[in-house]
Amino acid sequence: MIKYLSIFLLGLTSFATSCGEGKQKEETKVEDGRILIEIPNMMGDSVYSFVEKQVAFGPRVPGSKAHAECAKWLESKFNSYGAKVTMQKFKADFHFGASAEAVNIIASINPEKSKRVMLSAHWDSRYVADKDKERKDEAILGADDGASGVAVLLEIARLIQQYPLDLGVDFVLFDAEDQGDEEILESWCLGSQYWANNFHIHNYRAKYGILLDMVGSKGARFVKENTSMAYAPSTMNKVWEVANELGYKNYFIDEESEGVIDDHYFINTILSGSIPTIDIINRPKNSRFGKYWHTHGDNMEVIDKRSLMAVGNVVTTVLYNESVGAF
Ligand SMILES: [Zn+2]
Repeated sequence: MIKYLSIFLLGLTSFATSCGEGKQKEETKVEDGRILIEIPNMMGDSVYSFVEKQVAFGPRVPGSKAHAECAKWLESKFNSYGAKVTMQKFKADFHFGASAEAVNIIASINPEKSKRVMLSAHWDSRYVADKDKERKDEAILGADDGASGVAVLLEIARLIQQYPLDLGVDFVLFDAEDQGDEEILESWCLGSQYWANNFHIHNYRAKYGILLDMVGSKGARFVKENTSMAYAPSTMNKVWEVANELGYKNYFIDEESEGVIDDHYFINTILSGSIPTIDIINRPKNSRFGKYWHTHGDNMEVIDKRSLMAVGNVVTTVLYNESVGAF
């Protein structure tokens, strides 16, 4: 059974505008001068199982059988949640000379609505374990680096189907994010670079974007990443406020950190900030992205459903607040 979180909306005056579209309006509950809305809660077992399922395909390296099978599964999952799914194929040219057919998977809820929020993650996993001591040339499972963010987005899509909201939401799963070389900036994030230069629909617009990357490890630590703060400071600060209200300040730490190269970097720079996008990404204190990062240790053992739920509940709360004009 789904539990609800009762969340204080951040604003009061803007609520009236959201009720004018002829929809049946639910009775408004007010407490201490603030409106309460009900927001569906992430189910830990569900979101965890979505990580497991992706990992069970094996490494999702573009061109591999696991990659093709996982793409089909993701397409069918989003279809089953009532989203309009676009499979945006493109040729990924890798820095090591090879190329493969890659695909950005874009799932849209309420595609007719002009007010939209874009949620993204990368769904590929890395072709090598270059930070490992063993089997460096073998692809990794990417339970956290890739699968965790996708799992949270799938769970959000599942919740929205059960509890529809008055907002357009686009889930954009980028491919070929993690096949790069540290010396070559443009070798990373091929899917988001392609998408930013070739929208899936003409004149695509979203109010803002939220990227999830490495959001599932035990004790994950999200700090205010510099590129996000440069392009989307108000979104970032408000997301952190929501996290604080929900009691997740141990995960969402009020601290700024250096910028990282991730899909949001290319979205922000290529689009000159027209879809201001933040990155929610784990930055542990004693290592760059976690000791398992780009090793074979990035498997189900690092995944903690509490971290997945923390991120998922924060993003879900943002969406349901946004749908009543209160974010
Ligand atoms: Zn990575």
